[in-house]
Amino acid sequence: MKGLIIKGIGGFYYVKTAEGVYQAKGRGIFKKDGITLAVGDNVDLEVLPDGDGVINTIEERKNHFIRPPIANVDCFIVVFAAAKPKPNFTVIDKFLIMAEQNGIDPILCINKCDLVSEEDLKEIQSIYASVYPVITASGKTGMGIDQLLRRIEGRKAAFAGPSGVGKSTITNLIIPEANMETGTVSQKTDRGRHTTRHVEIFEVLGGGFVFDTPGFTSFDILEAEEDDLADYYPEIAAYKGQCRFDDCRHKSEPGCKVLEAVNEGRIHKVRYESYLMNLEEIKKRKKY
Ligand code: GDP
Ligand code: ZN
Repeated sequence: MKGLIIKGIGGFYYVKTAEGVYQAKGRGIFKKDGITLAVGDNVDLEVLPDGDGVINTIEERKNHFIRPPIANVDCFIVVFAAAKPKPNFTVIDKFLIMAEQNGIDPILCINKCDLVSEEDLKEIQSIYASVYPVITASGKTGMGIDQLLRRIEGRKAAFAGPSGVGKSTITNLIIPEANMETGTVSQKTDRGRHTTRHVEIFEVLGGGFVFDTPGFTSFDILEAEEDDLADYYPEIAAYKGQCRFDDCRHKSEPGCKVLEAVNEGRIHKVRYESYLMNLEEIKKRKKY
């Protein structure tokens, strides 16, 4: 019988099937093959006479993460705050790059919209509006939550974004059972907060699934190559092969179509600057 792993605790997995949720163990072969079953895995389950289940096989994964241990993520809800903390676009774009690298559709969620003026919000929105879906939200007023649910309809979504931007607050709004601990930026430390928690995926209103983990909070290393970075900025990738030089890094080379697009306002300056910053970071990392 086919099912979806919705929870894993202490070697047991909870598998949702058409006939209900079964508690199951993975066959020994998984351990032998070095495979750790993960929440989000699509599996084939055999139900024993005592009602417990055995997971016999897992379907090929679309993607897979170790920390947090989840699989088959369809979309990233990349949350950042309009203010408090002030958005750091180079960091936000790292989450977008990670999504692009893993075949995950990003949805940008600008939270704490209650803290800024309409004008300021428009300016932030304009950075991403032509590249990705952008939702303006407030975990405080509930603004934008319906829109968010509509976006994840029929898909498996995970939250990503810096600390203190409101990921837990929004998760609690759309998954009341999750009961995430929220706090101010200074009150909590990322480490330790979720160490005793298990990962779980919840079905939300409208038929989407959401992983209840705010695990994607930072990246120490940008896992991209210098040559590939432009591919992960869709509006830059759109000019692929059009610059005068094949190996153009779009910095200051003559005949660079990307620079032209930036100067003519077809690529947002903030995104271009983020590209340059991340390019530098990859270069520096390579030196060591
Ligand atoms: P996380 O670290 O991303 O999970 O952020 P939290 O959900 O813990 O939120 C950090 C702080 O911001 C908490 O004090 C929340 O009450 C507050 N907060 C969350 N969403 C909003 C919002 O939309 N507006 C305002 N003003 N504060 C918010
Ligand atoms: Zn170029």
